[in-house]
Order: sequence, then C-alpha cells, then structure tokens
Amino acid sequence: MICRGGDERSTALVSRVASYGECQGRLDHAEETAVGVPGSGLARGLAIVLRTMTRRAVTGQYPDVPPALPPRSRGVIALLEENCTVCMLCARECPDWCIYIDSHKETLQVPGAARPRQRNVLDRFAIDFALCMYCGICIEACPFDALFWSPEFEYAEYDIRDLTHERERLREWMWTVPTPPAHDLAGEPAKEVLAAAPPATGATT
Ligand code: SF4
Ligand code: SF4
Repeated sequence: MICRGGDERSTALVSRVASYGECQGRLDHAEETAVGVPGSGLARGLAIVLRTMTRRAVTGQYPDVPPALPPRSRGVIALLEENCTVCMLCARECPDWCIYIDSHKETLQVPGAARPRQRNVLDRFAIDFALCMYCGICIEACPFDALFWSPEFEYAEYDIRDLTHERERLREWMWTVPTPPAHDLAGEPAKEVLAAAPPATGATT
C-alpha cells in the first residue's frame, strides 16, 4: 500500500534539507527512502564536493595575509598619560570594572598663590583586556582625550594574566593610533577655537 501523503512529506523534507546544504547523511537517507534509488545520495554528495572544490576560497588567510580592517577598528585601547588627570571617570563608567587606577596627591607650592595647590599623580593605570568587552564607554567618557582606539589586535597571550596591560604598554599603543580625520572646512568651528578668538571690534557689552 502506497501512502501518498507520506511520500509528499518525505520529498518536501529532501528538498528542504538540500536547500540548506547541511546534514548530507540525513539527506542521503531521506532521498533513498523517498526515491528508492540506491547510491543516488552518494552521487549527489560527490557532486557537491566537486562543486565546492572548484569554488574560490573565501576563508581569510590570516596570519599569512593580514586582514584589511577599517582604520577605526576597535583593536586595543591606548593611553596618552600626559592628558590623564586621574579623574577616575573612565574607571567608574566601565561596565566591566576592568580599569585599575591608583594615584596619590602631591602638594605644589605655586609662586604668588595664597595657598599650596594639590594635584593627582598617576601611580598605576591598567586595563584587563581579558574582561574588556570593547564597548568604548571609557573612551567616550574621558573628558581629557587620554584614551584612544587603536586597530592593533595581535596581542594574544598564553597566560591570561598577561592580558592586563599596564600603563607603559598602554602608552606604547599610542604609536598605532591613526591620525584623526581632517576637520570639515564647511563645518562649525570648534568651541575651543571660538573661545580663544579675540572679541570682534566694535562689539557691544
Ligand atoms: S572598552 Fe568598555 S569594557 Fe573595555 S575598558 Fe573601556 S569601558 Fe571597560
Ligand atoms: S577619564 Fe581620562 S582623564 Fe580621567 S582617569 Fe580616565 S583616562 Fe584619565
């Protein structure tokens, strides 16, 4: 007795699996069940193998061929220590708590000033890239342009502890930070430029 409904379901299953190109073994079995021609699955599989062999490979050939990444790729974070005021904003905003900052206060005697001034001195600045999720919040939050993205990504380590980059290593990444794009000549001048510009002649107060 031939069950038509069952045949249609099997054929539909065969065409669906074939369209995804997966589970070749299951496809062969289903085909043989539906069509009843022994060896047709094997022939079909060989045809797929031959077709794939003649196709151009799309696999990236890294490390023999470096990938062509956009210049603003998020590879690693660089620190420009001279700009850092130890305000701690980046460490506070980091969702992963993977920025470690230590500092101490120094008292400065300023000539002519009524009282000595205090300033923060950086003792430690480190980022644990084993925890970092490359969200970029720290870079956005830094009000003093001390953190930058570098597209460098080749810093895999055998020991996970070596993925914590101390400030010397973060400083070294600065050499790999791409230069910022030029200002748009037709755009608004920066507010710092406007603030530094001399007042216009004849301006009323
Ligand atoms: S990129 Fe995100 S997760 Fe990584 S250090 Fe910055 S704020 Fe933290
Ligand atoms: S937010 Fe910027 S200036 Fe403040 S501690 Fe972080 S890197 Fe330094």
